[in-house]
Amino acid sequence: MLTDNTEQTWPPIVWFAMKISGIFYHQQIVRQRRCLSCDMEHFAKQQKINSDDTNALRPIDVDITYNLTSQYESNFSYKSARELGNDKRSQDDDTCDACKTCWWNKDGNVVRYTESSIGVSHWNHPGSWLLSIIILFTTIGLLINEFRRTINTKFGNPKKLLHLLSYTAFLCTVSIVPIMSLSSKLRSAFSGRGPGSWATAINARFIVRRLQFLDPAKNGYPGKIFLVACLVWPVLCAVFRCYVILGLSNKQTTEDALSCIIAGLAQFIWGCFVFLIYLMRRSFQIQLDLVLRFLKTMEGQTELCQRVLRQVTEDFRCFRHCVRIYMTAVIPLCVLGITTNLTWQYMLHATDAKPSESLNTQKYINIMIWLEISMFICLGAVAVGGIDAKHIWEMFQLSIYCLQSSHQRSHWNYLIRYLKHVEERTPAVSFSMILSVVGFYMAVQFGKQDVIY
Ligand SMILES: [Zn+2]
Ligand SMILES: [Zn+2]
Repeated sequence: MLTDNTEQTWPPIVWFAMKISGIFYHQQIVRQRRCLSCDMEHFAKQQKINSDDTNALRPIDVDITYNLTSQYESNFSYKSARELGNDKRSQDDDTCDACKTCWWNKDGNVVRYTESSIGVSHWNHPGSWLLSIIILFTTIGLLINEFRRTINTKFGNPKKLLHLLSYTAFLCTVSIVPIMSLSSKLRSAFSGRGPGSWATAINARFIVRRLQFLDPAKNGYPGKIFLVACLVWPVLCAVFRCYVILGLSNKQTTEDALSCIIAGLAQFIWGCFVFLIYLMRRSFQIQLDLVLRFLKTMEGQTELCQRVLRQVTEDFRCFRHCVRIYMTAVIPLCVLGITTNLTWQYMLHATDAKPSESLNTQKYINIMIWLEISMFICLGAVAVGGIDAKHIWEMFQLSIYCLQSSHQRSHWNYLIRYLKHVEERTPAVSFSMILSVVGFYMAVQFGKQDVIY
């Protein structure tokens, strides 16, 4: 494998997206890489050194408190960051070949980089963690305030039920990303202890490690059209919302203006997040392909292959879980949004009101809501590549079955048994869940609705 040191920085658009969505937290992002197995061994050794017990290892000394995501979540000393920045060439990954695969680029070459060589050091300055938390808290706070305002004006008013449901669906959809991002900060603050390993996928270290497989210094990021859509579509929605709420109505208040701003901001954060999900999904597809080739080439070296497999399994588990949580929350909300909007449109058509200026405004509001719902569905589905990231893993497993050869039967059996063992058995996004939302919706008794917003 070649070792090659390119000094080109990565395109800064992704750092911008990470900054906006409040992802930066750890001061140090890039460090010496160890594969999961080596990191575990290293951890056990450290524990041994830290304990005063210098006697021979007793069976009880084997440490099981190692946390699988600690390479992303634990704090490293700042000093080691300096060392790594000064002479990265002297870094050796001891003798483990699996550790070297942690530096793979798109073609499976070992390309080492530092924070300054990829250009992230300008964006992740001291105090970035505070800025991220401020961004996230402000966004969530403004969304809650907006929700409170909606409840005050529409709750308990049977005629406004439809509008309440529709707007609540929108607010909940855009608040998912800030809430997920904030939980990720919380997990990092506790060094990744406890449940919720999905939150590790929204961690700057994790994301940088995903991006290296895309070779961004050479080729830029894939999906440039998708990137433009992720940035422009939310802005378009926000501008349209401003036009409808502030431009068309004749009584604007500061609260209306604020609600437009917060809606725009939240949608923009959402767009950035979806683009990052897309990049991570693409990078996993590249990495799994490389791993397949590696497993075939290294046939017979079961221990090495298993180390590589362990690392990628754990990474993918975090990502897949993260996507599932996002989708589980968003799909029912989108269904709710669609059903309420359709009902509203139906009632609007059914009213015998004369075509007036007010009715014209309603048409614009209707277009605005469709524009937003279609954005949430289309961009989300493209980013994940469906409604779930499960298909990527299934393809990987299937390929392993196809790759196995008869003369290395035990090697492949071992790997397949491992994959079967770690297979997640939790159900994916189920249609029963979607149906239950429709059921809930049907159960709500609509009286005569006030169709005019
Ligand atoms: Zn090692
Ligand atoms: Zn290793």
